[in-house]
Amino acid sequence: MDLYSGDFNKLIDELAALPGIGNKSAQRLAFYIIGMSEARVDRLAQTMVKARKSVHYCRCCQNLTDSDLCPICASPRRDHGTIMVVETPQDLAAYEKTGKYEGVYHVLHGAISPMMGIGPADIRLRELLDRIRAGGAEGGKPVREVIIATNSSLEGETTAMYISKLIKPLQVRVTRIASGVPVGGDLENIDEVTLLRALEGRQEM
Ligand code: ZN
Repeated sequence: MDLYSGDFNKLIDELAALPGIGNKSAQRLAFYIIGMSEARVDRLAQTMVKARKSVHYCRCCQNLTDSDLCPICASPRRDHGTIMVVETPQDLAAYEKTGKYEGVYHVLHGAISPMMGIGPADIRLRELLDRIRAGGAEGGKPVREVIIATNSSLEGETTAMYISKLIKPLQVRVTRIASGVPVGGDLENIDEVTLLRALEGRQEM
């Protein structure tokens, strides 16, 4: 017997399909939403629809933004000759939180994984090469260094090696963050001191 109405069950199902939300949490949220005023539910729904529509990848670094260029790429205070390559926007956020990195980024949105059938064409790699070949970032300054900060998982290391081989012939210094980052650990879960140490201890590839 269905305990609740079809619409209510549908709401629970939709919420439960989100990452990190189990059935219990989905029920709790569904009850909460039903208890909210209609105006608030409307605002929440509209915010989701609007964000989904307006947020896209930055033209330059592929980070999420709702303008043409993200604030980092648009900033004249950043060093546009140094590009740190990360797997996800969350990794970028982790490095930004340290407040010590002055260069710009490139977000791959994944890593190469032959096991999962994810090849170089499935991540935002071509955009990185185009960017370096075009004489660098916004402002037309040449890229001096590419810091590869992919995870220290098998996929992250494979990706780092692959990128290094592609970029080196372009006469750009290629470095890899130090292996102070735990193996397989997502960068976003690592504390700022460890991240800074990994960045400072980066080595030529
Ligand atoms: Zn950007």
